[in-house]
Amino acid sequence: MSTSSVTTNEPVLKNSQTPVPSEDISRSFALTTRLDAIVAWGRKNALWPLPYGTACCGIELMSVMGPRYDLARFGAEVVRFSPRQADLLLVAGTITEKMAPVLVRIYEQMLEPKYVLSMGACASSGGFYRAYHVLQGADKVIPVDVYVPGCPPTPEAVLDGVMALQRMIATQQPRPWRDNWKNPHDKNR
Ligand code: SF4
Repeated sequence: MSTSSVTTNEPVLKNSQTPVPSEDISRSFALTTRLDAIVAWGRKNALWPLPYGTACCGIELMSVMGPRYDLARFGAEVVRFSPRQADLLLVAGTITEKMAPVLVRIYEQMLEPKYVLSMGACASSGGFYRAYHVLQGADKVIPVDVYVPGCPPTPEAVLDGVMALQRMIATQQPRPWRDNWKNPHDKNR
């Protein structure tokens, strides 16, 4: 028995064989919301990450971006290597004291509103490098919104961190750590 199907780009009403023009459907419903809510919705679903990978966590971050875990499903696949085009800083790896001013400079150059996700033990606390040359956590110099534990964290944990950040953005949670932040290298602060 042969079957045939007809495909069309026109939307079809349920139980109807007659395609309905798109413009008629657009007039048949209304969406009401608040401006700040829809702006937050747009922000949470259009994060542009800047990967600041300095060590092994950076390799794990590549896996998060790859097809298996696919950060694109969360609207955050537009990776940018210019801070002026990014609003999510993914700190993945050990930060040395020498690198700290660079991290601050990158953070300052990013677009507002901007967010920081600290990936792994090293970025969050210095990890097992309890040493004079390693920063004991990215939050010593920049405001961190989400910490993802692990050495390295699994890709699932990183995705969970991104989702936590998205919830924070959607609900417009206050971020006093961000609001009270001052550049630690600014001599005039
Ligand atoms: S947390 Fe572990 S995996 Fe990540 S950079 Fe540090 S040592 Fe490497």
